[in-house]
Amino acid sequence: MYPSLGFNRSLGWLANLVVLIIIITNPQPGAAQTSTRVKWADDRYKVDILLVVAHPDDEGAATPYLARAVDEGKRVAVAYGTRGSSGENQAGAEQAAALGEIREIEARRACLTLGIDKVWFLGGKDTASQDVLQSLANWGHGATLENLVRIVRITRPEVILTFLPGTFIGEDHGDHQAAGVLATEAFDLAGDPTVFSEQVAAPLRRLEPYLENLRPWQPKKIYYFPDGDKEEIFRDKGPRYSVTEISKSAKKAYWRMALDSFLKHETQAKGFIASLSKMDDSQIEKMATSDGFWSNGIGFVRGKSLVGGSVTGDVFEGIAPGAISFARPDASPEPSAPEVSVELAGPWSFYAEFRRAHGLTHLPHPEPPEIAQQAEGTFVIPLWLRNQTAEAREFSLSVSLPAGWTTQNGMVKLKVEAKQTGAARMEILLPALTETGAKKPEAQEIQIRGESNGQVVGDVKILVELRKRALPE
Ligand SMILES: [Zn+2]
Repeated sequence: MYPSLGFNRSLGWLANLVVLIIIITNPQPGAAQTSTRVKWADDRYKVDILLVVAHPDDEGAATPYLARAVDEGKRVAVAYGTRGSSGENQAGAEQAAALGEIREIEARRACLTLGIDKVWFLGGKDTASQDVLQSLANWGHGATLENLVRIVRITRPEVILTFLPGTFIGEDHGDHQAAGVLATEAFDLAGDPTVFSEQVAAPLRRLEPYLENLRPWQPKKIYYFPDGDKEEIFRDKGPRYSVTEISKSAKKAYWRMALDSFLKHETQAKGFIASLSKMDDSQIEKMATSDGFWSNGIGFVRGKSLVGGSVTGDVFEGIAPGAISFARPDASPEPSAPEVSVELAGPWSFYAEFRRAHGLTHLPHPEPPEIAQQAEGTFVIPLWLRNQTAEAREFSLSVSLPAGWTTQNGMVKLKVEAKQTGAARMEILLPALTETGAKKPEAQEIQIRGESNGQVVGDVKILVELRKRALPE
């Protein structure tokens, strides 16, 4: 097991000898004693900001801000959910797991351009889905959370930055959402000594092989960046930073530092790098700061602050050095539910409960719920049929659809036993996208009506925007 067993063994003998000498020479009770300092956490790993994202290159959603933060002396760590083993390889032939190996190196290089060398990979797998629950399942929710809580306890961040958990019309990647969900859970759990207690237990042996000797850590603030297209509902929900200011240390604009960092992702950006070589500096600046990427600067949505400060104030407003006490999240009370109801299930009902459980009911979310879907295709709407009465109930579901959209279900009749909640699905066949010129097609509404005993027990609405491509990679 140990190639240098003899050496270790002789060291062990030496250590035992030292212990023996200490015991022998220990002063008698009553004599003056000097105390020995206990080992403390490794300060090299203490950070101010922990960025939690899903894939290599996702850090680009925050790099113009991270460049500024590093400039201001802040220490930053990054945790990636996956190694990004899916998608196209623009730089070579390697695919799948082999591509993931390469992308890990690229991500480390990208972070290093900003001076960030504390980079972790949580071990999740890429999920081609907009459904956060599929991503969480594919990543192994429990093991990944355990890992992230460990990283929070090692890095002791003042602030966590991550994707906004929610479903929006946009890229809306399930993996991005999973990063946001896990980061929120870790924010609420890492300070709780009863959570993954083996991590915070003190060692019982000299070279403790099981217990980790970390301390609980309560981060002070959590901020989110959205993965949705429409900016209105995120506006003024948090601070916003210019990307055109010049870094004092690098003498470059923050957008340029972010772009240079992104260019390290060659397997994802080789084509983009080639297109940059045909542009002059002013064209590149225009692309980065006014046409695309970071045209409105870089903004965050404030999730929680345990140290006050204003919603749109600086990320570090209100933060003083030192640990704060563990704060159990302020769960909002369960809303009173009717005895019989039909509701959206899947990620939508999850997020409604998630926001309540984590004291985040103020987080922006679209009403009615919205999603982009690939056309043509099938869109499956998951539903809960709740029956809290003492008798079995029959539900009938009918759907009203935009012109040209169809369902194979027609009128659905389902029976749910007393005090039970049943799962149902409505499958909608989406037509091929008709050319509308440069104009993007408007999102259209699907409405599902649930009835029971002749009464309406639910009107579920969802806005759907048809797209040529809507499956995240
Ligand atoms: Zn991504």
